[in-house]
Amino acid sequence: MENTEAKKIVLSAIQPTGTPTLGNYLGALRNWKNMADDNECFYAVADLHSLTVRPEPKLLRQRTKEMYALLLALGLDPERNTVFVQSHVNAHAQLAWILDCYTQFGEAARMTQFKDKSEKHPEIVNVGLFAYPTLMAADILLYQTDFVPIGADQSQHLEITRDIAERFNTLYGDTFKMPEPFIGKKGAKVMSLQDPTKKMSKSDTNVKGFISVLDEPDVIVRKIKSAVTDSEARVYYGEGKDGVNNLMTIYACCTGKSFDEIEQEFEGKGYGDFKAAVAESVVEELRPLQTEFARLIADKAYLEDCMKLGADKASYFANKTLRKAMKKVGLYSVK
Ligand code: ATP
Ligand code: MG
Repeated sequence: MENTEAKKIVLSAIQPTGTPTLGNYLGALRNWKNMADDNECFYAVADLHSLTVRPEPKLLRQRTKEMYALLLALGLDPERNTVFVQSHVNAHAQLAWILDCYTQFGEAARMTQFKDKSEKHPEIVNVGLFAYPTLMAADILLYQTDFVPIGADQSQHLEITRDIAERFNTLYGDTFKMPEPFIGKKGAKVMSLQDPTKKMSKSDTNVKGFISVLDEPDVIVRKIKSAVTDSEARVYYGEGKDGVNNLMTIYACCTGKSFDEIEQEFEGKGYGDFKAAVAESVVEELRPLQTEFARLIADKAYLEDCMKLGADKASYFANKTLRKAMKKVGLYSVK
């Protein structure tokens, strides 16, 4: 891939399965923004992935537009970064098929997300859900990606991507670059407010378990107030304190304070004060994003222009890798 300034290539994607949660934001999206200035970034709304849970078509269209607006609202510049909708770039589904044929059934069956989601949606355990990681591998490998900013829950999928790439490269010679995960130190796994042993998910049916990045301030205050903690009423990070640990992580991410500083701040105070401070910090952290989103979502023409620009730019890069891979496996091409 031409890369005149030798910038690192970054790719990540998010499914339009609902409004992003604070977990998506702190674990992934905030890093997308932080990496945007110094790298060549490709960011996608993973609408093909979201078909695995068979969303209502009208809702999927609406959520795709909203997710796209939210990505721009992070402050991503659609001229400098490539922000696109996955299904607008045909190469993703095409390479995914090829990679399916270079992935073992057993390795895909080991994926925790597949097991979790099959349990959650026993009525729709479809082949797409099973093949999710190969589509994700295609997303990443098409752009000769160096870094993939993700939350900790996706590290297994990044591992399988590397395994697939290595297998392919060993068979056919260098085709794909080996991608590295970029997982932040704090916020890599924000937990559910109602069950702090499970990760916060935007598709959770219990809306009290997650904070959506578009929640109104009073909703955020209410949800954090009712977050599950423990009976000890002491703010410190420790074993058996999953709920408090999670709130401390959130507070640390939103204020930049260390866990030690937070413990000192709330020494001798109860969970009421602590939760109020956490809520306040979240409201402030999300305020600029919410303001910008409100402005962008009202401008459909602008959003669609950006989508087209993003799809053209992404297709240009993706097709180069796709053509290379097709040739290597022996698919017949005519000039
Ligand atoms: P779904 O429940 O539909 O899978 P999700 O909340 O898991 O939704 P994804 O679109 O699958 O969101 O993931 C988008 C990004 O957010 C990924 O990089 C993922 O690792 C990250 N992420 C998801 N949940 C969390 C979380 N609780 N904490 C930190 N990062 C997260
Ligand atoms: Mg997910």
